[in-house]
Amino acid sequence: MKRTLASLDSAWVEGKRALVRVDFNVPLANGAVADDTRIRAALPTIRWLRERGARVVLLSHLGRPKGKPDPAQSLRPVAAALEGHLGIPVAFLADPTSDEAVAQTRRLPRGGVALGENTRFHAGEEANDGALAARFALLGDFYVNDAFGSAHRAHASTAAVAHLLKPAVSGFLMEKELTWLGHALEQPKRPFVAVMGGAKISGKIDLIESLLPKVDAILVGGAMACTFFRARGLETGTSLVEDDRVALAGELLGRAGEKLVLPVDAVVATALEPNITTQVVPCDRLPPGWSRYDVGPRTVRAFAERIMAAGTVLWNGPMGVFETPPFDQGTLGVAHALAEATRQGAVTVVGGGDSAAALVAAGLEGAVSHVSTGGGAALEFLEGRDLPGVAVLDET
Ligand code: ADP
Ligand code: MG
Repeated sequence: MKRTLASLDSAWVEGKRALVRVDFNVPLANGAVADDTRIRAALPTIRWLRERGARVVLLSHLGRPKGKPDPAQSLRPVAAALEGHLGIPVAFLADPTSDEAVAQTRRLPRGGVALGENTRFHAGEEANDGALAARFALLGDFYVNDAFGSAHRAHASTAAVAHLLKPAVSGFLMEKELTWLGHALEQPKRPFVAVMGGAKISGKIDLIESLLPKVDAILVGGAMACTFFRARGLETGTSLVEDDRVALAGELLGRAGEKLVLPVDAVVATALEPNITTQVVPCDRLPPGWSRYDVGPRTVRAFAERIMAAGTVLWNGPMGVFETPPFDQGTLGVAHALAEATRQGAVTVVGGGDSAAALVAAGLEGAVSHVSTGGGAALEFLEGRDLPGVAVLDET
């Protein structure tokens, strides 16, 4: 178990500078934050520290600026959004590696908050450079990592710095992510059902392989299913199929046996356009020249039944091209089944940026047990890999 923020003594925390790595890698539009989900997710940690009189110094990356400053990827708009949430001014550290930044953190009042400019403006960040980490370490008296979404990367602000600043503990978001995702893997209430979809099988082969021995069933939808259909020798028309993964898909099918459940029908069309003519066809009746863009209604019913009978459900990847109605029905059906399963007492965990977005669009974000904020990090964790940003934190 990793040491958490709550284990720190309140009296000890008072007046100290907490260097907190957060994941404020948010979408920007017209110089403002377009989606503040990740900012809101960090608020419990920030508030806990402020209430105890800590001085809170936040670091994050944003986008991929490739090791040099890029005004379009500045965290300044995030500081403005954060001020709105906290109702206090947020000091902006224009260069968190400068002496001036260190002085700014020392001038913070108790409960004050500062935000450093994009860590990836420095080439040493992604290189996990010790010298850069040493500069970051000057900004705080202890370290908190709340950036679950960045925990699968060994970077200066997520890994090297945690060796230099002690204690190094997990924040509340990090703790919540590790608890829910860990719970699903380690002590799932059975039946344990995984629902997988999305565009490509290639990025998720490792996840399917590592889940197979743990789950009672994997329900497969999305374009991913098409690669499995090709492996079975079925017509896939113009559907998205990864030719170089067909052999592997066939091998997985053989190994998984009954556990791997494919769709029985599909919603097909000749092009991906809103309100285009569609057909619902059984999975072995795809007309050549047509493409599968969603699972069909019989599949939704079958998947929903399995989901609602489950004790634990892990969902990663939309069932269809949910961004383009009417191909959103399969994904919505799965989202509602997860909500119903949750009402009946199941533990339901959603990982993956697009699946989470679909859930939010359906207004069901609060209807499942946990929606992970970390796309790639959640996948790697569920694959059973050690996350470098977690491994470096203190043990209890
Ligand atoms: P997540 O972010 O939840 O892990 P992915 O990124 O793997 O999910 O996949 C999401 C994408 O998969 C969506 O943009 C969706 O449109 C696409 N997708 C799902 N089903 C299909 C399909 N049948 N054909 C083409 N694209 C699909
Ligand atoms: Mg995605």
